Amino acid sequence: MKNVLVIGSTGQIGSELTRELRKHCGSDNVVAGYIKGCEPTGELKEGGPAAECDVTNPEMIAEVVKKHNIDTIYNLAALLSVVAENKPKLAWKIGIDGLWNVLEVARENKCAVFTPSSIGSFGTSTPHEMTPQDTVQRPGTIYGVSKVTTELLSDYYQKKYGVDTRSVRFPGLISYLTPPGGGTTDYAVDIFYSAVKGEKFVCPIAKGTRMDMMYMPDAMQACINLMEADPEKLIHHNGFNVTAMSFDPEQIFNEIKKHKPNFEMEYDVDPLKQGIADSWPDSLDDSCARAEWGWNPKFDLNAMTVDMLDKLSKKLLG
Ligand code: NAD
Repeated sequence: MKNVLVIGSTGQIGSELTRELRKHCGSDNVVAGYIKGCEPTGELKEGGPAAECDVTNPEMIAEVVKKHNIDTIYNLAALLSVVAENKPKLAWKIGIDGLWNVLEVARENKCAVFTPSSIGSFGTSTPHEMTPQDTVQRPGTIYGVSKVTTELLSDYYQKKYGVDTRSVRFPGLISYLTPPGGGTTDYAVDIFYSAVKGEKFVCPIAKGTRMDMMYMPDAMQACINLMEADPEKLIHHNGFNVTAMSFDPEQIFNEIKKHKPNFEMEYDVDPLKQGIADSWPDSLDDSCARAEWGWNPKFDLNAMTVDMLDKLSKKLLG
């Protein structure tokens, strides 16, 4: 990994991954790819090169890759689960037609490619407890359908053309720098904003609904460690289960309440989000990621809550 392009660098993951990769690979060697209307600002803009890179435009991707001599592409362009459900055709155009364009450019220019999948790639017929690495994937959302296709198409390019494609199935990601982009697990970020602002939190996900989650620093390690893993040790390539914790709204509320005793929460369940959440696993088995490339998250619910409250308080309250 010498010269890296991050497509979708201004999103929840991209804004932190680009910074992390610049520390790891050198500031000049990581290009922040963006689309019109979502240009990088602040540290992301000042910290290294940036280029317009729309996944629906193959010539544009090829030009950026050639100009910067890119060898590794992190393709983060996608519509998240709730947004995608309202715009299924656009979700397919960005997630799958876009991925095809990225993979073709990667094939021609010998780039490795990381395109995240998600716990959304599973559906109601998947075993929900300790969901295995290799299991039923029959999702009922367009987000899930596009994520299964992402895994399959990435595997196809790896087997047929030798493109070094690798990816994980991210659970809900919790972070304080950039707000989440419209996913089913966003509540686990929003709850911290309410707690820090001293407001009552209205939870759109029902009590008892467990989902896998991860704090962003661990997600960054997954992105970097998998791309640097010894290829000889990889049995799987795309769609590694990775997780750091699994909780329901009550558990995260009670964890925050330990630090904010006056914090309050009530439920107003959103049927679309709840339907999606109910179809997703309650907990993932990530033993393949641990065995094949040393996945080992650092933050559990307790450690993540302490760090989130600290960082978000500094961000919002100064
Ligand atoms: P996000 O919505 O915050 O960011 C998406 C980025 O893609 C934005 O910067 C947006 O400008 C860009 N984009 C949109 N259309 C584009 C196009 N045509 N060409 C290029 N870029 C385009 O999403 P995120 O949370 O950063 O997620 C990134 C990836 O990780 C997605 O594939 C998502 O499905 C996956 N993922 C995220 C989570 C999570 O909790 N955030 C969980 C599982 C998987």
